[in-house]
Amino acid sequence: MKVKVPEYIAGLEPYVPGKPIEELEREYGISGSIKLASNENPIGPSPKAVEAIMGALKNLHRYPDGNSFRLVQGLAEKLKVSSNQIVLGNGSNEIIELLVRTFLQKDDAVIMPAASFLMYEIMVQASGAKPVKVPLKDRVVDLEGMAERISADTRMIFVNNPNNPTGTIVSKSALEDFLERVPREVILVMDEAYIEFVRDKACPTGLGYLDGNKTVVTLRTFSKAYGLAGLRIGYGVMRKELAGLIHRVRQPFNTNSLAQIGALAALNDDAFFTETLGLVHEGLDFLYEQIDIMGLRYFPSQTNFFLIDVQQDANEVFEKMLGMGVIVRPMAAYGYPACIRVNVGLPEENRRFIETLKEALSGTKNQV
Ligand SMILES: *Cc1c(COP(=O)(O)O)cnc(C)c1O
Repeated sequence: MKVKVPEYIAGLEPYVPGKPIEELEREYGISGSIKLASNENPIGPSPKAVEAIMGALKNLHRYPDGNSFRLVQGLAEKLKVSSNQIVLGNGSNEIIELLVRTFLQKDDAVIMPAASFLMYEIMVQASGAKPVKVPLKDRVVDLEGMAERISADTRMIFVNNPNNPTGTIVSKSALEDFLERVPREVILVMDEAYIEFVRDKACPTGLGYLDGNKTVVTLRTFSKAYGLAGLRIGYGVMRKELAGLIHRVRQPFNTNSLAQIGALAALNDDAFFTETLGLVHEGLDFLYEQIDIMGLRYFPSQTNFFLIDVQQDANEVFEKMLGMGVIVRPMAAYGYPACIRVNVGLPEENRRFIETLKEALSGTKNQV
C-alpha cells in the first residue's frame, strides 16, 4: 500500500541542526568536545532560571497556565507593549509555524531572503504555500529586491534581522523605505533572534512599527542571549487581532510550565545578560583578530556568530575539526560552500577553536 503524500511534503529538504556533542563523542569515541555550531550561550543557562525551575519541579503534575499570565506580563512590561500583543511559543520556531498555519493557504506566496534561516522555507513549503527566495546583496537582506517581488499573491514576508548566517543587519532607512512598499494586509515578520547582541546603535527593530499602519510581527527568543535553548521558549509581538487568531490555532499548553517559569526568571537576570553580552563581544573581537592573523577572510557580524571563508571545501574542514572534537557548522546548505559558521564560546573554547582550525587547514594530524 502506498501512502499518498502531497508533492510539497515529499520535496522537503530535511533541516540539519548543529551536531550535538553527545552524538559526536559516541560516533568518534572521543571526549571533551566543544560545540560552537548552534549559536547557543556558552556560559550556560541563567542561574536565576535554573533556580526558579528547581523550585517549580514539585508542581509538574499540574498543567501549565495556558495563558502564561506571569511571563506574558513580564514581557509586556519589559517591551512596553500590551499583553494581548504577545504570543508565546515552544521556541520562536513554533511562532513561525503558527504564523504559517494561521495566515497562509495553499499557493500563497511568501517572500524570504536567501541565504537566511532555513526554517522559513521549510515551514512555508510544508504548508503548501510558495517560498519566494530573494538573494542577499553583499550578504545583507536585500529589501529593495524583496519589495520588487511583492505581488497580488504575497501574504507574508520574512526578514531576519540580524540575518543568520551572515550576521548583517538592515538599516533603519532601508527598512522604512521597504515598509512603504509593503501593503498593510501583508504580514512582515521580523525575526530578531539575535537582536540583543547587536552593537550598531542604529539597528531598527520591528517593535518600533507594532502600532503603525503596517502589519509587523516581531519574533524573539530565549534560546540565545538568555541561554535557554533546551527549554524551548520564544515569542511573537503583533497587533492584538493577529495574536487573537493565533491563540485559537495554537495548542492550549504549547509552552510548558518550566519554560514559562525559567524564561521569566532569565528575563529579570540582568547580571547574566550583561555578562553574556560582554563575553560575546570580547570573544568576537578576539576571534576576528586571530582570523586576521591567519590571513583568512571573515565577515563581521552583529550577532554571536560569524562566517569564515576557509578558501576550500568547508565540509572537509568541518569533518577534520569534528575529529579533533570541535563542532562548527559547514555552510554549503546556505549557499556558502567555502565558509564555516562559528559562534563565540568561552575564552578557552575560542582559543581551542583557533588552534583546531589552524590544524585542520595545515592538514597535519593533531595528537589528542
Ligand atoms: C536560533 C534562531 C531562532 C530561535 O529559534 P528557537 O525556536 O526560539 O530556539 C530563530 N530564528 C533564527 C534566525 C535563529 O537563528
